[in-house]
Amino acid sequence: MTTGSRGPEKRRNSSRRNLILEHLQGVDRFLSSQEIHKQMKSRGESLGLATVYRQLEILVDEGHLDSIVSPQGEKLFRHCGVDESHHHHIICRKCGMTRQIEISEVEEMAELAAKRYKFTEVTHNLEIFGLCEKCS
Ligand SMILES: [Zn+2]
Ligand SMILES: [Zn+2]
Ligand SMILES: [Zn+2]
Repeated sequence: MTTGSRGPEKRRNSSRRNLILEHLQGVDRFLSSQEIHKQMKSRGESLGLATVYRQLEILVDEGHLDSIVSPQGEKLFRHCGVDESHHHHIICRKCGMTRQIEISEVEEMAELAAKRYKFTEVTHNLEIFGLCEKCS
């Protein structure tokens, strides 16, 4: 902690961003911005929901966080790792427990589809939702 934090707005935002990132580094689930906001609040951080959401978006843009959309259409965030390679997720619909997964068949299928339909620079998303061992 630095003292005399009367820096410009930019600086304050980046320290807020670090607070959120630090918090998410200790969480292995996908969480909504509301849940993250609530957890930060219970830790005594007084960040507004809009601020949390904005900072989460920036963290995703900068590649620090993964974001997915739940089957309910809610945006969820997770810190998956420092050295992130391409991966997919399997997520518990009930408790949010998440595992990172690599499925080589999916990668092959994407390449095959690109080749077959003559597409270049393709990307793909795949998230699997269900109930984890504990919740089923
Ligand atoms: Zn991830
Ligand atoms: Zn679960
Ligand atoms: Zn993939």
